Amino acid sequence: MDVSRGIDVLPFWLAGRPATGDSELTVTNSHDGRVVGVASVPTEDQVEQAVAAAHAVRKQAAALPVHVRAEALAHVSRRLAERSEEIARLITAENGKPIFWARGEVGRAVSTFRFAAEEARRFSGGVQRLDTEPAAQGRLAYVTRVPYGPVLAITPFNFPLNLVAHKVAPSIAVGAPIIVKPAPATPLSSLLLGEILAETDLPEGMFSVLPVPNDRAGALVEDPRLPVISFTGSGPVGFAIADRVPRKHVTLELGGNAAAVVLADADLDWAASRIALFSNYQAGQSCIAVQRVIVEDAIADAFTDKLLEAVGSLVTGDPDDDKTQVGPLVSEDAAIRVESWVGEAVAAGARILAGGTRDGATFAPTVLAGVPADAKVVCEEVFGPVMVIQRAASVDEAFAAVNDSKYGLQAGVFTRSLEAAFKANRELEVGGVIVGDVPSYRADQMPYGGVKESGVGREGLHSAMEDLTYEKVMVLTGL
Ligand code: NAD
Repeated sequence: MDVSRGIDVLPFWLAGRPATGDSELTVTNSHDGRVVGVASVPTEDQVEQAVAAAHAVRKQAAALPVHVRAEALAHVSRRLAERSEEIARLITAENGKPIFWARGEVGRAVSTFRFAAEEARRFSGGVQRLDTEPAAQGRLAYVTRVPYGPVLAITPFNFPLNLVAHKVAPSIAVGAPIIVKPAPATPLSSLLLGEILAETDLPEGMFSVLPVPNDRAGALVEDPRLPVISFTGSGPVGFAIADRVPRKHVTLELGGNAAAVVLADADLDWAASRIALFSNYQAGQSCIAVQRVIVEDAIADAFTDKLLEAVGSLVTGDPDDDKTQVGPLVSEDAAIRVESWVGEAVAAGARILAGGTRDGATFAPTVLAGVPADAKVVCEEVFGPVMVIQRAASVDEAFAAVNDSKYGLQAGVFTRSLEAAFKANRELEVGGVIVGDVPSYRADQMPYGGVKESGVGREGLHSAMEDLTYEKVMVLTGL
């Protein structure tokens, strides 16, 4: 306890045990500026101890019986559920996201660990006959999946629990030790997850949670004893990390400027309500928040009216209030950046149909039209509650507009036509096409990830487990 501030200093997790270092990280709430927690920061020696422990336990981890891994994962899922309200309040406090969305995030993390427990029991190798060719007659391939080794997980601020869960759960499921380096703005949820992980029977060294500052993260990134890096965050940081360690197995879950397409046959009320909500959920700070709304000309005016009505009915305010749908961004600086991008678009000719105003860290839900295609709010990732309406004369033109982006994470297509749905699936250059809903839809067990500058590799429990392991073949001869 730091008596001078009256706030507990939370320990970090070093090889499964609580530890404190010689410096601290203070976490504040962006809505009211209050200090919500203080995390202890590991020293360089302690970081070294965590890496050495992960390396030392790697063979024991890979040999850990599946029922032990699955039971540990199920335990974490149950405990997250039992402590869900406390954890949701913590996420709201450190991240600023409204409690409605924070509860949703905890619920998803409960599922993520449960899916991992189930998938751990299913995940396996196989046997392949090789006698399809005369030369291989009498031979059989026995295939197992083997973890590459200890994983370094680097996670962003916007889902401080569930995106950590998406790395920790599959690592445990495949038997790989993991070191989590959370985002400096939001380390508290992952430290609490560490507390729950420490209740399990996992071997010492199986997990560490190290809130090290970015300028000291290079030691972890470059350490050869951590052969896998699973990164979620922005493109520039992710690609720079991958470039530094070309020999490592690196998965990158990066940003986007997700598009929702509204075709003329869509249910316009449904599309308007979903797009309004999911452009603004978590103040637009999601890699799959709706940023570009591409509408077929024939229904563009009618749809825009409905969209503006839906945006106007969103409840903005105190993130601790049950009714709030749109809260502050993670910091006032983030809101100021969004404000400047909107200002640049307006200076270039864009019209503000809704919002456009800032109050501290809170930016009003904003709808822009007539925006030049090279404006940042169109072609970069806004990561704020801003959407841009673009018109398209045809389905082909709408899909071309979706693809006119350096990103390719997910796209949403509102249509009742099966033909249009399959055309979207064939033509859209993204990792996921969501038919009948926003690009922001994600079920935690489904394959998830991007193409182009949105990333490399896939998460979602089964896909992440494949990503963390390699296929090893044993060929049996003389059969
Ligand atoms: P960020 O890139 O600033 O930070 C991500 C992580 O990298 C943090 O833990 C940060 O501390 C760490 N980091 C920063 N510099 C580093 C360095 N030099 N060495 C090692 N680690 C370093 O991203 P952010 O602002 O926390 O998160 C927002 C971004 O994350 C957005 O671009 C968003 O689209 C993306 N994101 C992607 C997904 C996805 O699944 N594709 C999900 C959520 C967020």
